[in-house]
Amino acid sequence: MKHPFAITLDTGSSLANLTGSWRTERPVYVDRLPPCNNACPAGENIQQWLYHAESGDYEQAWRSLTLDNPMPAVMGRVCYHPCEVSCNRAQLDEAVGINSVERFLGDEAIRRGWKFDKPAKKSGKRVLIVGAGPSGLSAAYHLARLGHAVAIHEAGPLAGGMMRFGIPKYRLPRDILDAEVKCILDLGVELKLNAKVDRISDAMKAGGFDAAFLAVGAHIAKRAYIPAGSAAKILDAVQVLRSMEGEDRPMLGRRVVVYGGGNTALDMARTAKRLGATEAIIVYRRTRERMPAHDFEVEEALEEGVMMKWLSTIKRADEGVLTVEKMVLDEKGFPQPTGEVETLEADSLILALGQDVDLSLLDGVPGLEVKDGVVQVAPNMMTGHAGIFAGGDMVPSERTVTVAIGHGKKAARHIDAWLRGGTYAPAEKHELAGFDKLNTWYYADAPKTVRPMLELARRTDTFDEVQQGLDETNALYEARRCLSCGNCFECDNCYGVCPDNAVIKLGPGNRFKFNYDYCKGCGLCATECPCGAIRMVPEQI
Ligand SMILES: Cc1cc2nc3c(=O)[nH]c(=O)nc-3n(C[C@H](O)[C@H](O)[C@H](O)COP(=O)(O)OP(=O)(O)OC[C@H]3O[C@@H](n4cnc5c(N)ncnc54)[C@H](O)[C@@H]3O)c2cc1C
Ligand code: SF4
Ligand code: SF4
Ligand code: SF4
Repeated sequence: MKHPFAITLDTGSSLANLTGSWRTERPVYVDRLPPCNNACPAGENIQQWLYHAESGDYEQAWRSLTLDNPMPAVMGRVCYHPCEVSCNRAQLDEAVGINSVERFLGDEAIRRGWKFDKPAKKSGKRVLIVGAGPSGLSAAYHLARLGHAVAIHEAGPLAGGMMRFGIPKYRLPRDILDAEVKCILDLGVELKLNAKVDRISDAMKAGGFDAAFLAVGAHIAKRAYIPAGSAAKILDAVQVLRSMEGEDRPMLGRRVVVYGGGNTALDMARTAKRLGATEAIIVYRRTRERMPAHDFEVEEALEEGVMMKWLSTIKRADEGVLTVEKMVLDEKGFPQPTGEVETLEADSLILALGQDVDLSLLDGVPGLEVKDGVVQVAPNMMTGHAGIFAGGDMVPSERTVTVAIGHGKKAARHIDAWLRGGTYAPAEKHELAGFDKLNTWYYADAPKTVRPMLELARRTDTFDEVQQGLDETNALYEARRCLSCGNCFECDNCYGVCPDNAVIKLGPGNRFKFNYDYCKGCGLCATECPCGAIRMVPEQI
């Protein structure tokens, strides 16, 4: 049985009576948009792939998921899962563990060697992608599946972008990243490494490309002016994290101070601990509540012994010692100096203050608009120059892997249409299946599965993965917690409750239809549908 947590009624046995013309409303079967789908920046059809997963058809679930996002094993580790924040189940007990099921499916695909289907027909068009981060890889994947010849030019020695040279191994093991990158390349995508594009127009001309998608990310570390003695050791977090991929481990010393409050600062401090720092202290000018880093990241860092110094700025750096000024928040929540200073011992100071974009490859391209250091794009992801599209961290947006992957998909669809001389119009969105559309009486309590964590002792001195995956039993249980918001899951309730036998069963997978000759429009089916897949509409007279 698919939904053990949904109770179904026995089918009705009343004798059918032909309805007169006095019905004022009629029920119609509808599909509504589940809030999880609506919130996923990669536009995954979560409800649908969970539906396949809960019946144990993991390959079908993976195939359905990867129509939108080619990297579920990566997503299941690094996505901040806004889908779960929006999940209706959170209002019943706890959100469905969408992210952990996604990871299970991604890992299962790697283990079993599932491959993407190659396109049946080639378009004969060539697209250049600049940058092999999540956005470039996602665009390459979607364009390749649409039949275009794709070449990625990547400045670095390996693909992955910030997934490899930013996010530490203890959150994303590299064999997982490598496996999902390979799966994309196996579609026939050409990857040129150590191939920095200096001028986009030259690269397009040289390769005879019909269009380009730029996804160069944001890699230039922002600096703060901090007066410093000549012997002070000041480093950039993105450079230090990048060097973790090399042969030599960075030498940070025993007391490491990280300046900043975002996820990079957290990753840097946790990495410093693993490299042997006895003290790793994050200095941030606001309070914990105002940190851009996610709460769970702060929690995990605190568990590992990272220390936090809130409401503090660094005024000066000297060899082995920093001068720190205390701050207070004004009524608008902005930090203001107090003039009160103290010293903090530190062998190195690592700046994690955000990154700027290197846009030099766009020099001389007419029509572009650059604002606040990022390239402006139209709703179709095209820059002001026809045929040059852009996405990910280099355009105005939230900077996450999932947003970058979503941009790659969106751009690919528009590039495909543009290459074919048309425009891409996304399907209109269904009405949202909010919590008020559900009849939760039919769902039993089923607490969320807890994701196992590596024991603390091994978290501070190894780069082993901290968060563990679900086994099949737990993944299946978790998928079955889905309420199937707004989409019929064939529970038979409407069929069972209809007093007039006006519901006709169309067989497994084909759902139902109404026999309006018998329906009196009582609305019982719509009220008793657990997931809001029936709407009552006024009768046309
Ligand atoms: C330390 C850290 C931790 C993070 N953790 C998370 C997380 O847990 N979850 C999350 O969702 N997001 C996280 N992020 C943010 C996320 O990594 C980025 O938003 C995302 O990688 C952006 O993708 P992108 O494809 O736009 O760019 P990138 O990932 O930066 O990739 C750009 C690629 O382009 C290449 N390139 C640049 N210039 C050129 C050129 N001229 N020619 C050819 N190639 C070029 C680069 O070498 C790079 O490989 C983190 C970021 C950092 C720094
Ligand atoms: S990519 Fe992120 S937001 Fe989308 S389904 Fe996966 S965890 Fe949720
Ligand atoms: S219960 Fe299922 S369909 Fe509904 S929001 Fe949550 S994951 Fe999506
Ligand atoms: S439409 Fe009918 S069968 Fe489908 S979920 Fe609703 S009550 Fe169940």
